[in-house]
Amino acid sequence: MYNDLKGKVAVITGGSKGIGKAIAERLAKEHMKLVINYNSDAKGAEDTVKMIKDKGGDAVATQANVGDENDVQHLLDVAIDNFGDLDLWINNAGMENQVHTHEMSLADWNKVIKVNLTGTFLGARAALRYWIKKDRPGNIINMSSVHDQIPWPTFSHYAASKGGVKMFSETIALEYAKRGIRVNSVSPGAINTPINAKKFSDPDQLADTKEMVPMDRIGKPEEVSATVAWLASTESGYVTGDTIYVDGGMTLYPEFEEGKG
Ligand code: NAD
Repeated sequence: MYNDLKGKVAVITGGSKGIGKAIAERLAKEHMKLVINYNSDAKGAEDTVKMIKDKGGDAVATQANVGDENDVQHLLDVAIDNFGDLDLWINNAGMENQVHTHEMSLADWNKVIKVNLTGTFLGARAALRYWIKKDRPGNIINMSSVHDQIPWPTFSHYAASKGGVKMFSETIALEYAKRGIRVNSVSPGAINTPINAKKFSDPDQLADTKEMVPMDRIGKPEEVSATVAWLASTESGYVTGDTIYVDGGMTLYPEFEEGKG
């Protein structure tokens, strides 16, 4: 538990399921006030809000497409209207689809870039504008991926978007450090969420993935949300511009295990 988070206000994009939902649950345990964004899964978001309220927490679900600038402004407005302030903005919403690059339509490319990268820019910009206007510090956490570092054939738009998220985070961390605004990325490896449901339900694909993880297991959403909670709290107060890999060692070149190579 991080006592400094109590009563603070956070926006979480893509909070209706998966990692975003786990972040909402964890930050609710920290007694934060939460705006839980969803794009199409209203029920998922409402269920998360109900679960939080049943446990005595405070949260509101809000529809917004993170790729739309008016929608993102609406998310900020909901935070201010309901909770009076904004302390933390988490750009978690993301998507992927598999397609060979030579067969990728411009629409495929644009869709992934718009949600993963442009959505992160729009969310960060809304939060930055608010904190600068108020002349107060702030905290942004961006959900990147091990694929900001590991190339991923047939997902080139996704890898490009996450590489972009990492460098965008580092750049704005530097740009706003003197204002007391921290910006960090979290890069998960293979985590058990709906985005991977099909892949992990196939024993062969599950075994293939585990082979790439030195710790020999798939990660839990709660292991990502625990890292997010630490970055949200002042316990990490001197950390900015960093990318934390929550990946069971996936980025450690597992093929070199046991002295190979
Ligand atoms: P998920 O598919 O379970 O959840 C993604 C969330 O993003 C959903 O709530 C979805 O509604 C939301 N979303 C998608 N498009 C949106 C839009 N236009 N506007 C608003 N919300 C939108 O996936 P997840 O595994 O929970 O992924 C969460 C984040 O973590 C993503 O950014 C993903 O790229 C990243 N990530 C996940 C893994 C993993 O193994 N699960 C690994 C690395 C990175």
